[in-house]
Amino acid sequence: TNEELLELLKSKINHNTWEQWFTSAQILDIQEKKVIIGIGNLFVKDFIARKYGSLVSNTLSDILSKKVTAEFTFIPADQSTKKKAGPLIKERPLKLSDFNPEYTFNSFVIGEANRVAYYSALEVANNPGKYNPLFIYGDVALGKTHLLHAIGNHLMETSPDLKVMYVTAEEFMNDLMKSLREEKMDDFRERYRKKIDILLIDDVQFLIGKDMAQGELFHTFNTLFNLGKQIIICSDRTPEELATFHPRLISRFEMGLVVNVDEPDKKTKLKIAKKMAEMSSLYLSDDVVSYLVENIDNNLRRLRGLILNLFFHSKVTGEKVNIETVKKLYSSLKAHKKNIPQTKETLRVLKKNLILEAVIKEYNLTREQLFSPTRKKEISEARQILSFMLKNYGKMKVKDISEFIGKNHSTISQSIKKIEKELTGGNLILKRRIDEIRKQFEEAEKIQ
Ligand code: ADP
Ligand code: MG
Repeated sequence: TNEELLELLKSKINHNTWEQWFTSAQILDIQEKKVIIGIGNLFVKDFIARKYGSLVSNTLSDILSKKVTAEFTFIPADQSTKKKAGPLIKERPLKLSDFNPEYTFNSFVIGEANRVAYYSALEVANNPGKYNPLFIYGDVALGKTHLLHAIGNHLMETSPDLKVMYVTAEEFMNDLMKSLREEKMDDFRERYRKKIDILLIDDVQFLIGKDMAQGELFHTFNTLFNLGKQIIICSDRTPEELATFHPRLISRFEMGLVVNVDEPDKKTKLKIAKKMAEMSSLYLSDDVVSYLVENIDNNLRRLRGLILNLFFHSKVTGEKVNIETVKKLYSSLKAHKKNIPQTKETLRVLKKNLILEAVIKEYNLTREQLFSPTRKKEISEARQILSFMLKNYGKMKVKDISEFIGKNHSTISQSIKKIEKELTGGNLILKRRIDEIRKQFEEAEKIQ
């Protein structure tokens, strides 16, 4: 049974590790190739998946004497005891997108600046099709994505039969390009025009200057709209300011409800910080919360990163969080220039390292081996691929890659050319490897 399997797993995992991270674990379902494990805290879930995912998969495979992978899913605290696997899993087939369970209407703090957006989103979630489309715009980190997911989560609960799809404009475009490449446009159109009841499109400004994707979006929009399907769009600017967007698309966006999220006032920010801490069962006293908001960060996304770090800190050390801890942690974070997903620069560094990790993993190497001067075939191939990936997916300059890998400029550009040549020459093995690596780091990126 599930309980027995959990006991066996526990007996095979280091005791301290278990006590620290796995106490809320439940086996939700044992499937042919997967074991679904529920974890009662979202951050812990992500952490376990990243750090212990393969350990748990391997251990489970040993126990069951067949190859299985562990899949971790978040079960909110109030559900973890009563609601077991059944319904959660059964709803899956209809589910087109995963919604972040933390981003709900309940966890959204309402203030003057976002009230209209909040109630419009709620209204749309309760009466899909009534205000069509809903267009939400505002600066970065003011809760737009949160509201989209809140709509998704709400609909999954109230109308589990509706097919709700969330995509970022970037994903939409990538999907389009892939379908074009593979000559699968029929599938693409079927997916976006026929198999959807509600379409949530995030960060539509990404399509600025991307005419073809805009054209496709226009047709998708019209088809869904004419069928009375609800469309919700988020953007960092008003429809009018979507410069170079085709006027016909802009006028489509403008024909529904257009609402703004603005920067919240201090009081609302304090409430948001509190809510964020509460969501990770982290207790923060009032003075710590106001210290965070006033002295450290105004940007809500960074605030969340900081709270996440505080959570881990207190989890690992067992210490309560007070102002001293906050100060200390903040300065050490700054010193390491990491962990707070703040600037584009830190994101780039993160991406670079994720790509590196994925390559190392795919080739079964250590970092030292990869960076060693050896010319062994496997290892130099791995280095070539790394250069190629950093250039194409990490958007790094050859100069920076050469610095990072420790080879000279021309070696790196030759490596990149070599891989490109192999790929255009139709080297499928290489292509598969690259796809695999890409999948790996994109997965990892999602967790960050
Ligand atoms: P955007 O998509 O507008 O860039 P996000 O939705 O990603 O912003 O918000 C950034 C972070 O701030 C998220 O963790 C989100 O949950 C949080 N947040 C923003 N506004 C609110 C709010 N009013 N109440 C609670 N959390 C919020
Ligand atoms: Mg967003």
